[in-house]
Amino acid sequence: MKFDNETLDRIFCRTDGQCHICRKQLSFSNYGKAGSRGAWEVEHSRPRSRGGTDHLNNLYAACISCNRSKGNSSTASARAANGYRRTPLSMDKKNRNAWAGGAVGVLAFLFVPPPLRLAAAVVGGVVGAVVGKSYEPD
Ligand SMILES: [Zn+2]
Repeated sequence: MKFDNETLDRIFCRTDGQCHICRKQLSFSNYGKAGSRGAWEVEHSRPRSRGGTDHLNNLYAACISCNRSKGNSSTASARAANGYRRTPLSMDKKNRNAWAGGAVGVLAFLFVPPPLRLAAAVVGGVVGAVVGKSYEPD
């Protein structure tokens, strides 16, 4: 599978250039250059052999060694071998979720009676932000 530069860039940026399995920082310009510092490949989170697609939401940047050693096993188990459970999605994306979650939380608490409203809005905003931040589509 060949990817054009724009697609590679989008895949790379999804995880802020981190390997989605071991979180090592990768080097965009060393795409496919095995042996180079930060060399990486596009990894199918769900292997094609298991019905995974070439859609962007199934594609992640991974070190060449992670990608090759993962082979046919699941991303979850490859990640667990490195002590991680989640995709290291870009902070941009998480922060956007946090803002959205916070806004929803604040709005929800506007329906609380006035004496408690301010405190409730703050609590709601924080809870919403935390929930929003932890939301990671995978
Ligand atoms: Zn890795």
